[in-house]
Amino acid sequence: MENSSETLLPSPFPGLSERENVLLARVQEIADTVLEPRAESVDQSGIVPADNLRSLAEAGLVGVTTPVEWGGQACSGNFQREFTETLTAACGTTWFVLTQHLGACSMLAGSSNPALREQYLRAMASGDHYVGVGFGHLRRPAPMLRAVPVDGGWVLNGVAPWVTGWPILKGVIFGAVLPDEESGGQKHLYVYAPATENDRLRSTPPLPLCAMNATATTEVHLENLFVPQDQFVKYSSRAEMMRGDQNGIAGPASHIFGCARGSLKQLRAIAARRSALPAIARAADSLEAEINACRAECLCWSQTPDKSIPEYRPQALKARAWTIELAVRAAHMAVAASGGAANSLEHPAQRRFREAMFYTLTAQTADIMGATLDRVAD
Ligand SMILES: Cc1cc2nc3c(=O)[nH]c(=O)nc-3n(C[C@H](O)[C@H](O)[C@H](O)COP(=O)(O)OP(=O)(O)OC[C@H]3O[C@@H](n4cnc5c(N)ncnc54)[C@H](O)[C@@H]3O)c2cc1C
Repeated sequence: MENSSETLLPSPFPGLSERENVLLARVQEIADTVLEPRAESVDQSGIVPADNLRSLAEAGLVGVTTPVEWGGQACSGNFQREFTETLTAACGTTWFVLTQHLGACSMLAGSSNPALREQYLRAMASGDHYVGVGFGHLRRPAPMLRAVPVDGGWVLNGVAPWVTGWPILKGVIFGAVLPDEESGGQKHLYVYAPATENDRLRSTPPLPLCAMNATATTEVHLENLFVPQDQFVKYSSRAEMMRGDQNGIAGPASHIFGCARGSLKQLRAIAARRSALPAIARAADSLEAEINACRAECLCWSQTPDKSIPEYRPQALKARAWTIELAVRAAHMAVAASGGAANSLEHPAQRRFREAMFYTLTAQTADIMGATLDRVAD
């Protein structure tokens, strides 16, 4: 409806290789010609956008995090930031399904179980074998999923409350808490299991969601599911997870900037059509400057080498909360500039408003929740 097909902002990430620039040109073209034009119909369909994923896979873009020896592209962090921004500016649903799979690819690439990597990683990098994840619940205070060691493997019981992309998944990497006597309740186990429903593994129907409904996110219930040792991915712990969260407060924000960039692009398109309303162009100028400033702040804190300095945690949290609030505000600007049409379910402004709301919650920790509330309450 209101989307413009022109690419608005030049890449803010320097130092990409020639090959990465070629890949970025491909993803931009797919975003402009496939993902963004379909984004509202995907959003309303409630069905995982398999065709969008196929377009990305055919362009070699499902293997961006996978090492070359396993058929991937082994792209740099800067590439992945720009890649993510490009995807979420166009279609949050496609990105959210893909990003769970990319996380699973990285986990298998880094696993100390070479047989599992050999079995699945090439097919994962080519987009022939989608793998979801179910471990966000390990941040919760009470265990949702427990694993008990038995002869030849583990038995898992409990619920993975969020598993995104269920209908297209061939496997899931589950995170579970190991028993107290072995780990003091702090030790985590990650294992691969086929995404096949049976008496011991059941998925609910997709949860009805106000944003990202087409990601087909389900709850997966495990009852005495035996997972053999050869499906071991890694051991970890609550302490390691918290360390990762602490070091990654301001880093994983590219999806949120992409959403804000999508709103900015839309504002520019509306400003061009409604030139009698100069407030729209003024809002776009101010939004563009703020996106760049906020991104620079996040990069600064995420790339701080010594994360033990006292200012790191409060400043990184402030930067993350700014990002979250900025994306919601950017989407609100696009809603305001679009007038009554913005309230149509076919309009991109309301879709991005809901997607920006959703990005408030992804990988949320207690710290990020607090920082968000402090920023919004100020
Ligand atoms: C649509 C959707 C899809 C998702 N898909 C996936 C997926 O595919 N895979 C996956 O692993 N995750 C997924 N998630 C989970 C997501 O990444 C976050 O983990 C989640 O949004 C945080 O919500 P929660 O349900 O864990 O929230 P809550 O249980 O409300 O917790 C939020 C945070 O607050 C803190 N907290 C909660 N209770 C307390 C307490 N009593 N004391 C102190 N601190 C506390 C915890 O640190 C927690 O992380 C998905 C989430 C959504 C909404």
